[in-house]
This record gives sequence, structure tokens and C-alpha cells, in this order.
Amino acid sequence: MNHPENNDDYKGLTVNSGVAQPPVVNPYVRRLRRKPMPTVSEFVEGILKGDVTMLSRAVTLVESINPEHYAMAQEVIEKCLPYSGNSRRVGITGVPGAGKSTSIDVFGLHLLKRGGKLAVLAIDPSSERTKGSILGDKTRMEKLSTHPGAFIRPSPSAGSLGGVARKTRETVVLCEAAGYDNIFIETVGVGQSETAVHSMVDFFLLIQIAGAGDELQGIKRGIMEMADGIVINKADGDNIHAARLAQAQYRSALHLFPPTASGWKPEVLTYSGYFELGITEVWDMIDRYFDFVKANGYFEERRLLQARYWMQETIGEQLRSHFYCNPEVVSMLADREAAVLANRQSSFTAARDVLNLYFSRFH
Ligand code: GDP
Repeated sequence: MNHPENNDDYKGLTVNSGVAQPPVVNPYVRRLRRKPMPTVSEFVEGILKGDVTMLSRAVTLVESINPEHYAMAQEVIEKCLPYSGNSRRVGITGVPGAGKSTSIDVFGLHLLKRGGKLAVLAIDPSSERTKGSILGDKTRMEKLSTHPGAFIRPSPSAGSLGGVARKTRETVVLCEAAGYDNIFIETVGVGQSETAVHSMVDFFLLIQIAGAGDELQGIKRGIMEMADGIVINKADGDNIHAARLAQAQYRSALHLFPPTASGWKPEVLTYSGYFELGITEVWDMIDRYFDFVKANGYFEERRLLQARYWMQETIGEQLRSHFYCNPEVVSMLADREAAVLANRQSSFTAARDVLNLYFSRFH
């Protein structure tokens, strides 16, 4: 933070006084200057106008670990909140290779043909910026990435799932304020991140592929239970029969599940993202879902429950970070962990000692 290079006056390499200033090697190159940070109202104004550069910069602010940026991002979000909420939020999950990027590309174009705008976000807690994010990478969605109505943003870089998820949820608010009326949130179907995505979308789509006859194996029941729709991709060529078989298996498996809170019966469809077959049918299903839950009031109810969930999550996340950022706690924690590992102290008394120290500082 206090590094001299972070100071605005820092000039990098300088020429000692008394030495003639050498000419610029390429006189046509303009000096690159860091753009000044917009104010909160400039951010909000830009976002509401749908200015993509402003939106991107605001998202970067949301993702920043700098506490000043965080505080500023919160102000921007607060001011954007009244303009948010008017989108259809669709979560998309599937194991790597299921065809998420291919499908999002065609689903996105299908939607954009109807008009409106689409933001594609991702939650992938395992990704790191430096290594390139697995999800949301623009090159994976070739057609969509050049469409003027699409805004594609990779997953916030690695961190706790709670942190990554919060950033994505805040980005949803900004995108909606910028007029994106369709939001896709993508995640890899391999871990806990589905729960996070499920808790911020209106419709949760599970992409599956027909495999070697063991379709229902390895699919966590929990993920299937969360899905509002299951779609089996790659129903093309020699694979059509296997895809239909998988469809039948999923349908019968879903019969065994308890009724959903929405009253909606999850549907199972087959399609081919690559050959663009059955895309309209998938979106007809999603349209039917929205009509259904808007009519029976569940749409509103689910959003309110999600708002409460995120309030609780935010409190939990901030308490945790306050606790683990306390230097005294950190040092005692290391000490007590060593004691527990050496079997010198029980986990309960060790936890009590650390918590007591923490609480004693804030009474
Ligand atoms: P992701 O990891 O879930 O994002 O999957 P990708 O979209 O990258 O697709 C993985 C592979 O499956 C790629 O080689 C795609 O070309 C292929 N693929 C995707 N959709 C289809 C499809 O509908 N049919 C066929 N045959 N292949 C597909």
C-alpha cells in the first residue's frame, strides 16, 4: 500500500539533473496515464446509462480487496439497488465438458434475438486470475462475446466461496441497474458453488450429458433437487438414443423427489448446443416456469427468501473475516491449533480460549 510506486507523483525512471533530457524513442506514443477514479455519482450515472466501461470498472471495484474500494462499491450498489431486480436470473450448472460454454453461447444469442441485454457471470471459487479463470472466459463464448448486447464477466478470482458469491451477487445488482434484463450465472457442477448460485437465481438449469449408462451416478441428489429444469446436451448424431434414455431415467428419478416449494414440476429435455437443436424448446420451458411462478407468487417469495439468506451470509462472512483478521486471534489460534494437534488440549477448550480472547476485546 505504502510502496513509493503507488504514489501519484512517482515517476519511475528519472533523468538526473544536469543531464540533457533524452528524446522519447517514439514521439507518437502518448504517455499512458491512469484514469482517475470516478466518483460514486459518476459511477451510478454511467451504470444507469448502460455505459459498459463504467459497469466494468464498478465490478472491478466490487471485486477489489482494498477496503476503500469496498466501501465505495457498497455506496454504488446502494444507489443502484432501486434500479435493480428487473431481470430474469438463470443459474446454469453442469460438470466440465457438459457443454456449458457452447450452450450459453447459443442460449444467449437465442435470447438476444428477442431483444434486451444479457450479462453472463460466473462463480468459480477455484479460479485464480493469474492462471486464467475457468468460467466466464470470453474466448469460450465466441459469438456472444462480440455481441453488443452481451456483457461477459469471468468469476471473481479465488477466495472463499462466500466472498466470491457475494461479489457475484453484488455484480448482479450493477448489471440490472445497467439494463441487463437477462442474467446467466454459470458454475461448475462439482462442488458447493451450486448452492451459492441457486440462492441468487430465479431458475436453476442443470446441464447433463448421456454417459456410459451410469447417468444417475455421481450426480448429487442435492443438485438434482435444486434444479428447476434438467437438460441433456449433445442429443445429436449417434448420441440421440443415449440422450433419450437418460431423459427417461431422469424423469423417473424426479418422480421420487418431494414436490418443490414452487409447485413447479421440473422438466427434463434433450437438446444439442453444438448443432443448435431444441434450443427453442428449452427456452419455452423457462418461459413457462417464469409465467407459472409469477402467477402463483413464488417468484417474489423466492427473491425475498434469497434476500434474507444473503443478509445472513453477509453477516457471517464479515464476522468471520473480522475474527480471522485480528492479529491477537491469529497468533493465539496458531498456538491452540498446535496444542490440539499435539493432544495437549481438547478442541472445545482451545476454541473457548480463542473466542474468549476475541470477545474480551469487543465488550
Ligand atoms: P463446458 O466445460 O461445460 O463449458 O463445455 P464446453 O462448452 O467447453 O464443451 C465441451 C466439449 O463438448 C467441446 O468439445 C464441445 O465442442 C462439445 N460439445 C458441446 N456441446 C455439444 C453438443 O451439443 N453436441 C456435441 N456433439 N458436442 C458438444
